[in-house]
Amino acid sequence: MTPFAYARAGDSAEAVRLGADTTAAYLGGGTNLVDLMRETVARPARLVDVTGLSDRIEDTPEGGLLIGAAVRNTALAEHRAVRTRYPMLSRAILAGASAQIRNMATVGGNLLQRTRCTYFYDTEGSRCNKRDPGSGCDAHEGFNRIHAILGASPSCVATHPSDMCVALAALDATVHVEGGGGARTLPFDALHRLPGDRPDIDTVLTPGELITAIELPPLPFAATSTYRKVRDRASYAFALISVAAALEMEGDRISDVRIAFGGVAHKPWRATLAEAALRGGPATEAAFRDAAAREFADARPLRDNAFKPALATRTLVAVLGALAKGETA
Ligand code: SF4
Repeated sequence: MTPFAYARAGDSAEAVRLGADTTAAYLGGGTNLVDLMRETVARPARLVDVTGLSDRIEDTPEGGLLIGAAVRNTALAEHRAVRTRYPMLSRAILAGASAQIRNMATVGGNLLQRTRCTYFYDTEGSRCNKRDPGSGCDAHEGFNRIHAILGASPSCVATHPSDMCVALAALDATVHVEGGGGARTLPFDALHRLPGDRPDIDTVLTPGELITAIELPPLPFAATSTYRKVRDRASYAFALISVAAALEMEGDRISDVRIAFGGVAHKPWRATLAEAALRGGPATEAAFRDAAAREFADARPLRDNAFKPALATRTLVAVLGALAKGETA
């Protein structure tokens, strides 16, 4: 590990001041960043500890929830309002990592965790454009079972590893940030980037910007929502495919629906094509399959992950079928 300085911020203004230096990094639970530092993938000269900041979960005047960026994953998953009003979010968090890691990890850190592409972490023997821009991408011709099928580029086929972020994409969350230029908000779907020719840049945050909170809008039909994750092991594994979905029915018609996929792209994938195909239509298996076909029409599987479009389709059919019956388990 490369030597580094440590500072603990007393408030967000101090954090932004300490983090303005481009060699600094914000430290939440450290459950990904410390691994990256041990592997020398990340070499910050200074860590700015922000775990003491904004760790509250509050109702908003509009009827949503404001979640401080320093809230621990376990606290968020277990919060009564999250379990009852946004169960997909609670389920997504509990599907991730292990209990010990969820106890340490923070909401802000979860959003900024980096891909688990094995070549990204192999500093000794692998080419990786995300770690070392311009060096190449060994995943293209390598073992690419977990990699992307949508929105990838010749430079990078990595997937985003977060479960929580898939639910936040489906829920249309808002991200609150502070930086040298002041405070701003951005839609969750705009936070993470597709790789293009700059896979080393994961988000649209400018250097030194700090995520301070996540806001969930009021969404009554999210009470009928869930998250399903398909992976190689029953626990402590990243998603091959995951689905976050909420369904609102009027009689036998779908009046509204939210769908996002994990494990398919460089960012949580909001399934706008599938949603548009389903709104106003029947909640039948044929309709669910048609919606999935539209969403994955442009999928470009790699050598080892040709199973993903079919797996995503089966998972979506199962999830929407259960939600149409009012089941969220
Ligand atoms: Fe690196 Fe992306 Fe290629 Fe993985 S897929 S080796 S993260 S450039």
